[in-house]
Amino acid sequence: MTRRVLVTGGGTGIGRAIAHAFAAQGCQVAISGRRREPLEQAAAGTGLEIRPADVTDEAQVEALFDTPFDVVVANAGIGAAARIEDVELADWQQTLTVNMTGTFLTFRAALRAGMQPGGRLIAIASTASLQGGAHIPAYAASKHGVLGLVRSVAQGVAKRGITCNAICPGFVDTELAQTAINGLMERHEIPREKALAMVVGGNPMQRLIAPEEVAATALFLASEGAASINGHAMSVSGGEI
Ligand code: NAP
Repeated sequence: MTRRVLVTGGGTGIGRAIAHAFAAQGCQVAISGRRREPLEQAAAGTGLEIRPADVTDEAQVEALFDTPFDVVVANAGIGAAARIEDVELADWQQTLTVNMTGTFLTFRAALRAGMQPGGRLIAIASTASLQGGAHIPAYAASKHGVLGLVRSVAQGVAKRGITCNAICPGFVDTELAQTAINGLMERHEIPREKALAMVVGGNPMQRLIAPEEVAATALFLASEGAASINGHAMSVSGGEI
C-alpha cells in the first residue's frame, strides 16, 4: 500500500528536500506550512499535496490529520542568534512555541489520528539538541526540549510498532543557515566568506550539509530496516558531534 507522509515546514529547505525524497519513492506526500507560495513552489510538478497550517495552532494541526499518516516529519522550525542579554521574552516564547510545542502538537495529532504499526515519527531537531552554542539560548533550549519529547514518545509508542526519532543536523544550506550567516556578518562586521567560515568551522568536513543528506536520513529512519531504531538522536553533522 502507498505510504502517506506529512512534512511540516515542507515548502522550503530541509522539509522540501524530505518531501521530494519521499515522493520520489512513490509515497503520497502532503506538505504543510503557513505561507501558500513556498508550498505551491515546492509542489509544482511533483504531485505533493498542499495543506497550509501553523504548527502552533492546535486546531489547525489537528485538522491536518483527518486521516492518519504513516510517516510524520515534524520539521517546521525557527531560529535566530542573539546573546541571552538581548533575547526578548516574546522571541524566547515564540522559539519554544514553534519548535517544541509545534512538534508536540504534530506528534500528538498523528497518534490521536490512529497512526498504525510501522508508523514513523521523525523530528528535525539539531546538533543544538545535543550541545549548547554561545548565542543560541532559545534555539538550543527548544531543540533540547524536542529531543526530550522524542525520547519520551519513543518509549510510549514502542509496543505499538511505531518509532519516534530525531535527526540532528549541523548547519544545512537553507534560508535558516543564511540567516545565521547574516547575523554573524552584522554582529562581527565581517564579510560573508568569513562568516561562512565561522559557520562551517564547527563541522570537521568544513562545509554546509546539503538538505538532501538530511532527507536521506529521514528515508532511512522511515525504512523497514530501521524498525528497531527508536528514541535515537541521529547526528548529521560531518562529525561535529
Ligand atoms: P527553513 O527553510 O526556514 O524552513 C523552516 C520551515 O518551517 C519553513 O517552511 C516555514 O514555513 C516553516 N515554519 C516556520 N514556522 C512555522 C509555523 N509556525 N507553522 C508551520 N510552519 C512553520 O529552514 P530549514 O533549515 O529548512 O529548517 C527546517 C528545520 O531544520 C527546522 O526545524 C530547523 O530548526 C532545523 N535545522 C536546520 C538547520 C540548518 O542549518 N538549516 C540545522 C539543524 C536543524 P512558513 O514560514 O511558510 O510557515
